[in-house]
Amino acid sequence: MNLPYAEPYKIKMVEQITKSTKKQRLEWIKEAKYNLFNLKSSQVFIDLLTDSGTGAMSDKQWSEMMIGDESYAGASSFYKMKDAIKKIFGFDYFLPTHQGRAAENVLFSAMIKEGDIVPGNSHFDTTKGHIEFRKAKAVDCTIDEAFDTTIEHPFKGNLDLQKLENVLKKYPKEKIPMIIVTITCNSSGGQPVSIQNMKDVKELAEKYEIPVFFDSARFAENAYFIKLREKEFADKTIKEIVTKMFKYSDGMTMSSKKDAIVNMGGFIAMRSEELYKKASVFNIMFEGFVTYGGMSGRDMNALAQGLDEATEFDYLESRVEQVALLGKRCVEFGIQIQKPFGGHAIFIDCKKFLPQLPKEQYIAQTLAIELYIEGGIRGVEIGTILADRDPETRENRYPELEFVRLAIPRRTYTNNHIEYVAAVLKNVFDRRNEITKGYSISYEAPIMRHFTVELEKI
Ligand SMILES: *Cc1c(COP(=O)(O)O)cnc(C)c1O
Repeated sequence: MNLPYAEPYKIKMVEQITKSTKKQRLEWIKEAKYNLFNLKSSQVFIDLLTDSGTGAMSDKQWSEMMIGDESYAGASSFYKMKDAIKKIFGFDYFLPTHQGRAAENVLFSAMIKEGDIVPGNSHFDTTKGHIEFRKAKAVDCTIDEAFDTTIEHPFKGNLDLQKLENVLKKYPKEKIPMIIVTITCNSSGGQPVSIQNMKDVKELAEKYEIPVFFDSARFAENAYFIKLREKEFADKTIKEIVTKMFKYSDGMTMSSKKDAIVNMGGFIAMRSEELYKKASVFNIMFEGFVTYGGMSGRDMNALAQGLDEATEFDYLESRVEQVALLGKRCVEFGIQIQKPFGGHAIFIDCKKFLPQLPKEQYIAQTLAIELYIEGGIRGVEIGTILADRDPETRENRYPELEFVRLAIPRRTYTNNHIEYVAAVLKNVFDRRNEITKGYSISYEAPIMRHFTVELEKI
C-alpha cells in the first residue's frame, strides 16, 4: 500500500473555538448588517474568511521571535530577512513593509502615475485599489479558460500573451510602468501560473522594455503546482523551482501573511538599486526606516524562518491536499467549484449554486450568509460587491464569476474541521431552491466597499 501524505508536524498548543446555535447566528448576522467582516470572531466556529495572517507559526518561528533584534537601524533581524530573500528569491535589494498592500503603496508611489496602464492577471483587490487610487488603470489579461469553472486547465493563472501584447502595442512604454503577475492568481481561484508563461511574459516585456513584478503572496503554493503539473520541473525541489520562477521577474511585492506563515508583515524586493533608492524615500515616509519598515525585529526573524518552512515539499503537500479534501467533497455533492482546486481555498461557483437569484441581489454574498447561518462558517464573497463600481461610470461591475471563497488557514484546522465544513455545504445545497431572495446595499464606501458594506434583506 502506498503511504498517504501526513502533516510534517504535530500539535503543541491548542486554541478554543466556540459553537453557537442557528438562532444566535441569525441575530448576529443581522446585527452585523449582513457583512461577515462585521462579525466578532467569537461568533464564528470555523473561520475561512481568509488565509491571510491566520496561520499557525512553528516552534522554530516562535523561538526566532525571542531573539529578534529591535535596533532602529541595522538590526540583525533585518539581515536575517535580507539573507532569506536573497537565498530564496535571488534579489539583492529589499524593503520591509507592514503588510502586502503597504508594499504596493510604496512601490507604486515610486512607479505609477495618473493615466498609466498596468496589465496583469486578475489583479488582487488591494493591488487594483492602489492602481486606481493613482488614477491609473489595471487591465486584466488572464486567459479566458480561467473564467469557466468547468474547464480543467493546469495553469488558470496564466496571462494570455495576445491580450498582453495588444496592451503593450496600444500604449507607449512610458505609460506602462510595469506588468504585474500574481502568483498564485487569487481572483481567478488560487490558480497557478506556469514557468513557461512567466518566461513568455518576461520575453514579451523585454521586447517592449517594461519591467515585470510578481505579486507573490502565494509563490510557494504556485511552485508546488509547477512541480506537480509542469513535467520539466517534476524532479526539482520547491526551492529550486522558486529560484527559477523569480528569474523571470524584476522584483516582487509580498504579503508575508500568506506563504511566509506569519501573522503580519510584507516586503518589496528588487534587482535595481536605482528603484530601491527611489522606493526607500516612500518607505521611510509611509512605513519606517529602511531596515525595519513597519516590522518589529522579532517579526522579521519569524518571517525569515517562515519562508524556509513554506518552501518545503511536505508542508506544501499537506496544505494543498487539505484544500483538495474540501474540493473533493464538493464534487461528490455535485456543487460546482473552480477546478482544478486552488492552492489556498475552494471557490464555489455561486451562479450555478443559486441560478434563481438575479445578479443585482448579490448572489455570492447571499450564499456566504447562508453558510454562516447553517454552521457558523465564515467565508468571503468574491463577486459583485468585491468587484466594486467602475471608477468612471460608478455603475456596479458585474464579474463573470460570482464566488464564495472558503480559504483554509495554514496549519490551523484539522481534516475533521474540513469534514464539518463539507457537511454544512451539503445542507445548504440540499435546500438551495428555498433561497429565493438576496440582499440590497444600504451603505457603501467609495473604494474597497466590501470591507464595510452594509446590507438589507430583500
Ligand atoms: C493578500 C494579498 C495582497 C495584500 O496583502 P496584505 O498583506 O493583505 O496587505 C496583495 N496581493 C495578493 C495576491 C494577496 O493575496
